[in-house]
Amino acid sequence: MEEQNKQVQLKNFNRRSVLGYIRKNGAATKAGLSAATGLTFMAIKKILEELEELGLIRCDAMEKGTVGRHALTYVINESYKYTIGVHINKFATRVALMDLRGHILCIERCSMERIFQNQSVFVETIVAAVEKVTAKAGIKKEDILGIGVGAPGPIDMENGVILTPPNMPFLNYLPLREVMEERTGCRVYLYKDTNAIAFGEYWDGEGKQASDLIYIDVDMGIGSGLIIDGKIKVGANSIAGEFGHITIDVNGPRCNCGNRGCLEAMSSGIAVLRELEKQLEEEESHPLYPKRKELVIEDVFEMVERNDLLTISILNQSAHYMGIAVSNLINILDPQMIILGGILIQNYPRYFQIVQTVANAKKVKGARENGMRVSALGENAGVIGAGEIVADDFFNRKVNEVFPRNGGMQE
Ligand SMILES: [Zn+2]
Repeated sequence: MEEQNKQVQLKNFNRRSVLGYIRKNGAATKAGLSAATGLTFMAIKKILEELEELGLIRCDAMEKGTVGRHALTYVINESYKYTIGVHINKFATRVALMDLRGHILCIERCSMERIFQNQSVFVETIVAAVEKVTAKAGIKKEDILGIGVGAPGPIDMENGVILTPPNMPFLNYLPLREVMEERTGCRVYLYKDTNAIAFGEYWDGEGKQASDLIYIDVDMGIGSGLIIDGKIKVGANSIAGEFGHITIDVNGPRCNCGNRGCLEAMSSGIAVLRELEKQLEEEESHPLYPKRKELVIEDVFEMVERNDLLTISILNQSAHYMGIAVSNLINILDPQMIILGGILIQNYPRYFQIVQTVANAKKVKGARENGMRVSALGENAGVIGAGEIVADDFFNRKVNEVFPRNGGMQE
């Protein structure tokens, strides 16, 4: 019996590898799969037949018009089932319905202004958006595998509760998983927002070619998500990736978390605004001087457009601190790829360049340069990643549940 179990486990592992390779690469041939997994052609053929029979993959039409013989390519059967991704953000919450290849079929953007400060209105708005995208896409409810939610951290993963997000206190202690499962009848997966984004980048974004990566969100706050061997690293207490709260300067400015000199207090959008306000006190002729007490991040980007040296020097200094933090990260984890996204990266390209230069100059001497990229998925990375969390769980469970029976291994 033990020997049989081992065989089933090995079979499931091989099937997961094949399915994972097809998901990651979008399409695969038998030869490509054999080279990537080390399995024989015959073994690959058998696994592909099983996966096809289950409806999880399909044979794709061959390309036409090029010379030479074509090998059959296999792709995920994207319309076998569907997922829903939710990404909660301070300004807007996005709700998207996706197929199993991570394509968005329908998306709703709910502005947070109206629902701010009220948990039940917030929940009802998300639930209504879930119903709306499902109806609009014409998908039956039973074909939805689940709802992935990326929410601001910290999060109690075990109980599915949003704890005390510093920038969205109205969500404090909301048991979102339970409430949404009750209201929608769907299985709900609650993850930290930056973990979901990292997962989206891993499956569908710049990280498609990487087996491990770190996503760093350089927004009003700073967060990160860590993917190792295709899995989200949540940590023992689900706080892994609180990159914004590593200490850069023990005597530095006070952070929202209560400590001093955190990266978030020195490199984030909030830090830039705070520093700008402080320096404007001495700059009475500066165009922003009159509104220095009520600055918003758009003011910063407008000043960059106008080539304002004060604003640019503050942004560059922030990017420099970020570069130092990233070099520390490289020295600890040496990830294949580091992807940066968020409002500062999107609106001020020089930020990324400085981080890359500083990080590479400070890392261990002689080490190869790590791949560093700007997020290509942009503002939809969060919903895509949340949907992929549901898809990933489905594929893993499906392989484990169904194949022992199909393989004739059960008593
Ligand atoms: Zn902090």
